Amino acid sequence: MPELYIGGRWESARAGGRREIRCPADGAVVSTVDEATREDTEAAIAAARTAFDTGPWPRTPASERAALLLKVAELLQRDKAEFARAESLDTGKRLVESEYDIDDVTACFRYFASQVGAESGRVVDTGNPDVLSRVVHEPIGVCGLITPWNYPLLQTSWKVAPALAAGCAFVLKPSELTPSTAILLMRLLDEAGLPPGVANLVLGAGPEAGAPLSEHPDVDLVSFTGGLATGQRIMASAAATVKKVALELGGKNPNIVFADADFETAVDYALTAIFLHSGQVCSAGARLIVQDELHDRFVDELVRRASTIRLGGPFDEKAETGPLISEAHRAKVEAYVATGIAEGAVLRCGGIVPEGIGFYYPPTILDECRSGMTVLREESFGPVLTVERFTDEDDAVRLGNDTDYGLAGAVWTTDAGRAQRVAARLRHGTVWINDYHPYVPQAEWGGFKRSGVGRELGPSGLEEYRETKHVWQNLNPEPQNWFAGS
Ligand code: NAD
Repeated sequence: MPELYIGGRWESARAGGRREIRCPADGAVVSTVDEATREDTEAAIAAARTAFDTGPWPRTPASERAALLLKVAELLQRDKAEFARAESLDTGKRLVESEYDIDDVTACFRYFASQVGAESGRVVDTGNPDVLSRVVHEPIGVCGLITPWNYPLLQTSWKVAPALAAGCAFVLKPSELTPSTAILLMRLLDEAGLPPGVANLVLGAGPEAGAPLSEHPDVDLVSFTGGLATGQRIMASAAATVKKVALELGGKNPNIVFADADFETAVDYALTAIFLHSGQVCSAGARLIVQDELHDRFVDELVRRASTIRLGGPFDEKAETGPLISEAHRAKVEAYVATGIAEGAVLRCGGIVPEGIGFYYPPTILDECRSGMTVLREESFGPVLTVERFTDEDDAVRLGNDTDYGLAGAVWTTDAGRAQRVAARLRHGTVWINDYHPYVPQAEWGGFKRSGVGRELGPSGLEEYRETKHVWQNLNPEPQNWFAGS
């Protein structure tokens, strides 16, 4: 069966291209899928345009749109095992993590189902009885949705669920490395009864299959999650047609630990903050910023525990984390560590590619990092923790904000006042206090500075997919005679 989903039909790539998808745990081919070119994406945009302009979905009552999203949530749970297995084979992540991801995807569909009719507009009191003035929200139109490989279906659901809730049509372009769960999702949307052309899927490389989504005049919004450089390209190309743009880019996230923090808990969470999914998490706590007097004891314990983390494939029940997504990505992480050492960082553990198959890289700690180093400025997107020292609260905040990014960060302290003061001063979109990584669909997710434009999740996540319109009705029209002489 072909894998491009266009106008409610499964189609093969027009130019006949195919791509092999390999499992990062052993390099084995797990599937072969259609590879779209520009022409396929343009066909998908045309299908979405027709569905939006002439189809029923944008005018479907809110209760029916909500019911469809809830149906999708139900089907996701029915097929959870199939989705989780497909996600693990594409990404190499542990099966249990993929299962959590599918539960999070389900929660996302349920949340946006609850938001469909939550705020449909308001009447404006003009004080004039002859006027009816209303502000209403309408779907933005055709959306181009471009997603990365680290949480393939989760990142997709953060865009697809609010786009559908708002009444939009879309073309989805997942990462070329991890297409499988997007294909499965299209099947579920079809089964749930979504009208043809509302959801469209193209697979393939960004510059070929993805670029038309930011360039084409028939796309009204492009929503992208991925790397900074790609986001900058997409924003620049969207400028030609003044598209709405939503960007979720990377982070260089500080995890700040004061000397009075609960030691065992802070160590434990510092490990999860960076080594979960081998650091391939946009909000990973990649920069440990630790108070001087705690530094030696804290880093010694981190090194001890990091060195015992077990690597393994998706179905290895003893594994604690998995491989990196590709050989190329591992080479990038390796080069990044080499740069850090060359700039004066002290390698405390890891840093050596293990022998054997699969794209594994060990948990790695670079100590004694100093402001200005490349490893503090650029994302590795791998299991590499940098360590900096701070003296006092002002110094901690200064270092925590010393980045072009602003996605997330954490502060660890038992002083409640200090926790709030530091959280308020950190220029990051999410700040955890004595915790790391949790998020809920009810609260917005997004970045300050170069981490992004716009918000996902929460009520503003839905607003990204709606236009706001003011409708003014003169209830008693009569000549004004402004030009009395005419
Ligand atoms: P990437 O930027 O290389 O690719 C992301 C997506 O963009 C892929 O689907 C890719 O095919 C597509 N793409 C590439 N060039 C394109 C172009 N010219 N036009 C249109 N689409 C194009 O990122 P990646 O390597 O897949 O993901 C890793 C990056 O994503 C990291 O930098 C990470 O921080 C970021 N990320 C951010 C968040 C967040 O919420 N802020 C979440 C996950 C990942």
